[in-house]
Amino acid sequence: MNDILHKIQEGMKQLSYKARTVPITHLPEVQEAVGKLIKQGLVNEQLHTRWHFYLDANKNLPEAKTIIIVAMPSPLTRVWFRHKGIEYPADIPPDHFGKKVKESRAQQVLNNVLRPAGYKIAKAHLALKTLAVQSGLAVYGRNNMAYVSGMGSLCMLVAFYTDWFCEENNWQESKMMEACRNCSLCRKSCPTGSIPVDRFLIHAENCLGSLQERDPDSPYWVQLQPDWRNALTGCMRCQFPCPVNKPFLHKIKRGPSFSEQETSLILNRAPWERLPSETQLKLELSDGIYALLGPNLSALIERQTRARQR
Ligand code: SF4
Ligand code: SF4
Repeated sequence: MNDILHKIQEGMKQLSYKARTVPITHLPEVQEAVGKLIKQGLVNEQLHTRWHFYLDANKNLPEAKTIIIVAMPSPLTRVWFRHKGIEYPADIPPDHFGKKVKESRAQQVLNNVLRPAGYKIAKAHLALKTLAVQSGLAVYGRNNMAYVSGMGSLCMLVAFYTDWFCEENNWQESKMMEACRNCSLCRKSCPTGSIPVDRFLIHAENCLGSLQERDPDSPYWVQLQPDWRNALTGCMRCQFPCPVNKPFLHKIKRGPSFSEQETSLILNRAPWERLPSETQLKLELSDGIYALLGPNLSALIERQTRARQR
C-alpha cells in the first residue's frame, strides 16, 4: 500500500474511522447518478436542491485528483430538556449531532499526512451515500441508508478533495446488503410506506426526515409515531428494527442537558444568534437542524406528557 494511504488509514483507524479513495475522474458518474434519478422523477428537484448534491463539483480545489470519503461511527445522542420542572429525554440521530467535531478530526488526520507531503485538501460537498457505496466503503440497506461494516447505519460521512493522486481506485457498482435479501423489517416499520416493494429507491418525497427538512413546521410527523423511541429530529423508525444495527443501537451517547431557560428559548424558536453562546456550544447540531428543534420539541413534550398521564 502507498505510504501516504497507509498513514491516512492508520490515522483514521486511531479514531475508529474508515476511509476510501476514488479518483476524481469518477466525479461525473456521481453527478450523473443523481441527475438520472431526478430525470426519472425518483428524486424530486426540491429535495435535490436541499440535499447536499452540489453538482458544481470541486470548485474548492479545481486541481483535485482524488476524493477521500470517510465514515465515522456515530451513536444516537440522548439529550435532556427541563420544562416546568420535568426532564424530557430526547434522542438525536447520528447525522444530526456533533458532526463538525467529527469532521474536523477527520480533516486533521488528512492535514497531518497530506500537508507535510505538499498536498492540499478541501471539503467536498457531494452525494455522500453514493460515494460511500460506490467506493466500497458502504453498502445500501433496503431503507436506502448507507451501512458501513462495524458501524451499521449509525455513522456519519464526510468527503474531501485532494490534489494528491492515489492510484488505488475503489470505484465499484453499488450493492445492497446481503442481509436485506430475505428481510423487510424496515419496510414494515416505515410509518409512511416510503420503502417500496417494487423498486430499490425509497419514496424520499414521503419520507418523514425529508418532509421535515422541507418544512420545519410539521411537528405532526412526531405525533404520527406510535413508538416513542423515535428521534427528536428526523426519523429512525426504519433503522431501529434492522438486525444489522443491533450491536450499535444500545450505545447511546450522553449528550447535554438544557435548563428551563434554554428549553424555553428553543421552544419559542429564538433565532440562533440570540441563544447564549454556552447554549450554542451545547447544541452541536448539523446545518439546518436548529430550525427543526423548536417545533419538534413542542411535539415531544406534548407527547411525553400525554404518555405520562395515561
Ligand atoms: S431491516 Fe432488513 S431489509 Fe431493512 S436494511 Fe436492515 S437488513 Fe436490510
Ligand atoms: S426515515 Fe422514517 S419515513 Fe423515512 S423511510 Fe425510514 S422509517 Fe420511513
